[in-house]
Amino acid sequence: MSNVSGSSSCASNVRERGRGKVVGVPKRCWCGEVIVAKNSKLETNPCRRYFRCGYATAKKLMNDDHCFKWVDEALLDEVESLTLHIAKLQIEMEIERKMKMELEKELF
Ligand SMILES: [Zn+2]
Repeated sequence: MSNVSGSSSCASNVRERGRGKVVGVPKRCWCGEVIVAKNSKLETNPCRRYFRCGYATAKKLMNDDHCFKWVDEALLDEVESLTLHIAKLQIEMEIERKMKMELEKELF
């Protein structure tokens, strides 16, 4: 048994607590508050846009579990889900095209 412990550097990411990770652009925080887009003032990420729970913004909350998501990451999610959606549509179109060809073969 290899029980590796003590090196969990990404522990801060394990705070989802079943509220569900938002995929794509968040519409509303789990608390019911609307999402606002803000500019980051962090030195590590200057001027990077992010989505944030309106309540948490108003209260200037830090390290809470209200909605927070970088805009670029959210948009990347959107693009990925759109790509998947398009791929699915293409498969469906291909199936329909084949079915149509089969039908035409039977008719003519
Ligand atoms: Zn919230």
